[in-house]
Amino acid sequence: MKVYKLILLLLVVGFHACKNPQADAQTQPKYVLVIHGGAGTILKENMTPETETAYIEKLNEALEAGKSILKDGGTSLEAVTATIMVMENSPLFNAGKGAVFTAEGINEMDASIMEGSRLQAGAITGVHHIKNPILGARAVMEETSHVMLTGEGAEELAISAGLEMVDTSYFFTKSRWNSYLRAKDKAEKFGTVGAVALDKFGNLAAGTSTGGMTNKLKGRVGDSPIIGAGTYADNNTCAVSATGHGEYFIRNVVAYDISALMKYKNLTLQQATDEVIMNKLKGIGGDGGIVAVDKNGHISMTFNTAGMYRGFITSDGEKEVLIYQGK
Ligand code: ASP
Repeated sequence: MKVYKLILLLLVVGFHACKNPQADAQTQPKYVLVIHGGAGTILKENMTPETETAYIEKLNEALEAGKSILKDGGTSLEAVTATIMVMENSPLFNAGKGAVFTAEGINEMDASIMEGSRLQAGAITGVHHIKNPILGARAVMEETSHVMLTGEGAEELAISAGLEMVDTSYFFTKSRWNSYLRAKDKAEKFGTVGAVALDKFGNLAAGTSTGGMTNKLKGRVGDSPIIGAGTYADNNTCAVSATGHGEYFIRNVVAYDISALMKYKNLTLQQATDEVIMNKLKGIGGDGGIVAVDKNGHISMTFNTAGMYRGFITSDGEKEVLIYQGK
């Protein structure tokens, strides 16, 4: 009888060892996607329930678009592109369809994308007709030997790459026009979109797309298309997409600084993003935030403003969409 019990015990222990969820977690490839739809003075008291729901639904849709790619074994680059396109096609965000107006009352968009395995990157600035600027950035990365193209050159490349081009009227939205009229003598309004992802192959990617800042001067370029400022990805450290007052993000080389703190000072992702966003930038009045994922799938969504549209989804089934501080 005792021997029988012992055999049974050994069988049970053996079975559990095989089914150890930790062992599964180690062998199962992991994917993570983190997004933002801009940081700024986003306060619950200024938001109608309908607008809040619209933002939450669109952020969820963007996360699901990227997740379905990552789940099926697609790359982080593909997931970042698809996720950003969902937000570019929505008038809610300051990118693509909802881009803000310059001081001259036109829409002038910037975007960039980077992948962390070979440090390949592409960016476009000051475009007026590319329906999805993130695709323009990707075309620069994949179809030229350059990293950044501006204005007409970027649009010519987009045409030859077969991207959808639209009339400037496509980018007109009443709400952005109203903020332009209100902001006539001050540059304001964030709302850039961005995404970072880790795919099942361990590759990181980051992308950012924006209309810039309301009432910006014609020709002004912010941090979003600047590799190292608004966007950065390195498989050895992390992928970062930023949003906020671009001039501060350029001068502080925010996205690269976060990666560099991890690489050269061995900080964790959260320590690095806290150092840059909450200490360095906040100390000099640089409003904004970042979303980031590191090579092990750790996430950071750190911002020093009242709110940041943001969310993440992982292969472990975790998902969250948030707007304000705390929640
Ligand atoms: N960073 C963007 C820019 O300065 C603005 C934003 O994030 O909303 O162009």
